[in-house]
Amino acid sequence: MQSKRVWARAVGLERDTVIEDVREDGEVIVVACRLRRNARRRCGICGAKAGRYDQGDGRRRWRALDAGTTKVFIEAEAPRVSCRVHGVTVAAVPWARHGAGHTRSFDDQVAWLVTHTSKTAVVELMRIAWRTVGAIAARVVADSRAAHDPFDGLVRIGIDEISYRRGHKYLMVVVDHDTGRLVWAAAGHDKATLNGFFELLGPERAANIALISADAAEWIGEVALAACPNAELCLDPFHIVRWATDALDVVRRWIWNTMRRLGLTGRAKHLKGCRYALWKNPDNLTERQQAKLAWIARHNTPLYRAYLLKEQLRLVFAHRGDEAVALLDAWLQWARRCQIPAFVALYHRINKHRTGIIASVTHGLSNGLTESVNTKLRLLTRIAYGFRSTDNLIALCLLDRGGHCPPLPGRN
Ligand SMILES: [Zn+2]
Repeated sequence: MQSKRVWARAVGLERDTVIEDVREDGEVIVVACRLRRNARRRCGICGAKAGRYDQGDGRRRWRALDAGTTKVFIEAEAPRVSCRVHGVTVAAVPWARHGAGHTRSFDDQVAWLVTHTSKTAVVELMRIAWRTVGAIAARVVADSRAAHDPFDGLVRIGIDEISYRRGHKYLMVVVDHDTGRLVWAAAGHDKATLNGFFELLGPERAANIALISADAAEWIGEVALAACPNAELCLDPFHIVRWATDALDVVRRWIWNTMRRLGLTGRAKHLKGCRYALWKNPDNLTERQQAKLAWIARHNTPLYRAYLLKEQLRLVFAHRGDEAVALLDAWLQWARRCQIPAFVALYHRINKHRTGIIASVTHGLSNGLTESVNTKLRLLTRIAYGFRSTDNLIALCLLDRGGHCPPLPGRN
């Protein structure tokens, strides 16, 4: 009897269950159990008492966390019940989520691992297929979102789109500027997709949205402002800085091509290796990259000026309010007369969006949030390769960036 209690504790069956038997079955340990009367015949979806329908597929097994190095399965009846709301469904069990082949603790441990360690580590340690990890992420996130409404209390949001699979696929995402969390994501990038978010949000909560940041795509602004009557639209600093980095790259390639045409292959080669030195924030440069930048400052005036223009624009977003506006206007003056075609074009683009940029510096939106979410999600789209569906990819994103990662089982 004592050993049954120990097993109940080890596999997390202390609630509402009676252990009938623990046995070895080939390479695995099977813990056979039944539900106590009060826990029987509950709808697997809502948990309400329901009438027995039939025996379903009979006895079945759920994978639990290993005992040491040995796989453990819980075995029990899985009858079907008839719920007044949900119709015929498999009865609820306290140790697993509805429709799952793994226990709640197993799911939670996998969800924790996938946000804290590598793909290979999860798959090897838990002895499951990678696509199973995707299905588990979806279950855990759905559970967490049902418990805490992620849309409650939204005031300042950012809308962004992320392309992956070489630009063949898109995700639209919404982040909360106040918590730094990803609150919603969906496949696609069009008005209908974005409207899906505002439908879920509903008119009452949409009226509380005060600030929306987005890139310069006009349709995003149109859809968002139509749904949120009290919101002000800002341009996301991340996208503006990106425009400058792109312009800088145009200048670098143009100079590189010119050098090659003039037969200055040595210099052209040196310049080619400078891409990252120009791209990165000066604070993060390695010593080697600093040396490359110094070389550009000595040998290549237009490229160095373009670099300074990019850095000066980044500086605008490190400030707030009047200071930022003054810096922005000084930048516009400089860029307009810089005689570097890519940056004169950038001047026109930024001047056109001056109002949206001023709104974002006035409200102190930082460049960091969208940038870090963007970078992380791009990485996740690559990691999630092999999942069965986009929904599972989105679940992985929400698990990692949406605050839905559960604590390790038994630690909370
Ligand atoms: Zn039900």
